[in-house]
Amino acid sequence: MNIKDIRLTPLHCTFKQPYHWSQGVTYGAPVVLIEIETDAGVTGIGECSASPTHAPILAILEDALPRFIGQSIYDVNQLIWSYYQYGFNAKGIGRAPRYFSQAMAGIELAAWDAIGKQAKLPLHQLLGGKVRDKIEYFGFLQGNTPEEIGAHSEQLARNGFKVLYVKVGRGNELDIAILREIRKAVGDRVRLRLDANEAWDMLNARRMFEALKPFDPEFIEQPVSASTGPEGLARLRAVTNIPIAADQTVYSAEDVYDIVRCRSADVIVLGMHETCGILRYRKAAAVAEAAGVNICIHGIFETGITTAATIQVAATINNLDNGNQIMWQLLKEDIVSRPNLVPKDGALPVSNLPGLGFELNYDAVNRAKDAYAKLRTQVV
Ligand SMILES: [Mg+2]
Repeated sequence: MNIKDIRLTPLHCTFKQPYHWSQGVTYGAPVVLIEIETDAGVTGIGECSASPTHAPILAILEDALPRFIGQSIYDVNQLIWSYYQYGFNAKGIGRAPRYFSQAMAGIELAAWDAIGKQAKLPLHQLLGGKVRDKIEYFGFLQGNTPEEIGAHSEQLARNGFKVLYVKVGRGNELDIAILREIRKAVGDRVRLRLDANEAWDMLNARRMFEALKPFDPEFIEQPVSASTGPEGLARLRAVTNIPIAADQTVYSAEDVYDIVRCRSADVIVLGMHETCGILRYRKAAAVAEAAGVNICIHGIFETGITTAATIQVAATINNLDNGNQIMWQLLKEDIVSRPNLVPKDGALPVSNLPGLGFELNYDAVNRAKDAYAKLRTQVV
């Protein structure tokens, strides 16, 4: 089965409500829809996370396409890495592996979707079979004020989420007020995870770990800047008894190796757009597994395509966490029409639809395409 064409469609998926976190306020998800047409008549669908903005991801994809079109889709792994050599190493300066991973993850996802559809098998079967029937998620708390976030925590706990997750690093007093409202609303019925998204320096992190301890956080994610490296997290971990999750410090299997070697984290938060897709996600998870550390699915600005794809891969990973992240629910409308991706009691079943296990809503795709066209006149 050869690749006949690859269509790139930039989309802007608007959020239902402003998304408040330590780095500011975000209003939507920039993605590039990838459709690989094959000479077998099968079309594989994937997406690239186009953060912080579409242009560099589209530029990399346009540069890469001539090396994929006309080639066998079953060679996608080799095609991606030969493009890395040609497009990033051979051209010399600034290898930019993170941009490369974001761009190529979308191609790899779409290739796997086509391969699964052609074989009439779900991806998890092509990867050797699932080790679980469902993936468990945390309830992701939204809102600006402590009262809004407290009310949302009550709602998500009522919907069956056993783990809740909230952004901190928005100011020490505000963080404490948010935690107070959450515990007031849900008591100790839920496990509570916090994500500071690199907001604290080392001293303030130590101060906040003490101040937040009474609210019994299960872990605090990426408390300090990723620029402190695995050692920064390790230094903090050595002086606190609240577990630490590594997020922005980790993108690749090699980063996972550094984290476990430096004993920097109790859990690693990682997504497929960071690892350059499915095969390297499994490789990264395997490195963590060897060190007895679990992988928690990381959501970034993405749609249900990534949720569906990640379910397929996560189903095959032994050391998967039981409070994973999804992000499509932040969108005003998702572009996936099937299956239903609303977690029930905090979990989603592993789909047996062929490929990545989803179908697109093209009306919603067209609306997101129109929103992209209007970007020049909006704050996004
Ligand atoms: Mg995070």
